Amino acid sequence: MSQILYCTKCNNYTLDKICSKCKENTIVKKPARFSPQDHYGKYRRKLKKIEKKG
Ligand SMILES: [Zn+2]
Repeated sequence: MSQILYCTKCNNYTLDKICSKCKENTIVKKPARFSPQDHYGKYRRKLKKIEKKG
């Protein structure tokens, strides 16, 4: 796995799907090819889902 993941909660770069610091789900940090707003909207929805889950 050479994918760089990023935790939006503590602004931490990691290679894990879960941040080792805050156990928050990390996102794939890629160069914005599409609209940044769309990009973040997608992750916002994802995060909301996770928050609801607990
Ligand atoms: Zn974190």
